[in-house]
Amino acid sequence: MLRVTEIFRSIQGESTHAGRPCTFVRLTGCPMRCVWCDSEYTFTGGEYFSLDDVLEKVRDFNCKLVEVTGGEPLAQREAFALIERLCAENYEVLVETGGFVPIAEVDPRANIILDVKCPTSGEEARNHWPNLERLRADKDEVKFVITNYEDWQYALGIIERYELDQRTKTILISPAWDAVDLKDVASWVSASGLDLRMQLQLHKYIWGPEARGV
Ligand code: SF4
Repeated sequence: MLRVTEIFRSIQGESTHAGRPCTFVRLTGCPMRCVWCDSEYTFTGGEYFSLDDVLEKVRDFNCKLVEVTGGEPLAQREAFALIERLCAENYEVLVETGGFVPIAEVDPRANIILDVKCPTSGEEARNHWPNLERLRADKDEVKFVITNYEDWQYALGIIERYELDQRTKTILISPAWDAVDLKDVASWVSASGLDLRMQLQLHKYIWGPEARGV
């Protein structure tokens, strides 16, 4: 069984897939506590679903793209089996993970979107660094949520140290909502000389930062 906070259809709000129709499977629970977390409602509660029930709901929404997210989706052991089943049904699967749980056993057909936690998150020490060495240049993305200049400098250091421009399809620079001047982030990104992608959380601009299930 899987503990599930919500399953819904919307458009992808982040990553290179932003704007595409997508079914989201949001699993309950997360071992991290990022200070700017926008999904604290996933920490508790949820309903138990069998894998078959999750798949049936996903089929009903009729989207080619499916994102498994949380919370921290990989904190539930059965999430790995869910990802495998979704891939076997030929969905294009995105796994959005906070970077604390090893990704080694994720079905290789799935696309990983891996957060690297910057210092201001308060969870930097829990980054599982071997995950960065497993990223694949043809399909995986890495994301830095930036709250200030210190986070930006930290991101640059990690990108260089792990050669993330070689290892990933895209490096996402995502300003934390309402925490940093977007023009500042745009100027840092544009002057970096690196092939980065600044992203805004599209769903929050459409439905507002507090909306759930959209
Ligand atoms: S890893 Fe994600 S869900 Fe967990 S606390 Fe951090 S932002 Fe929130």
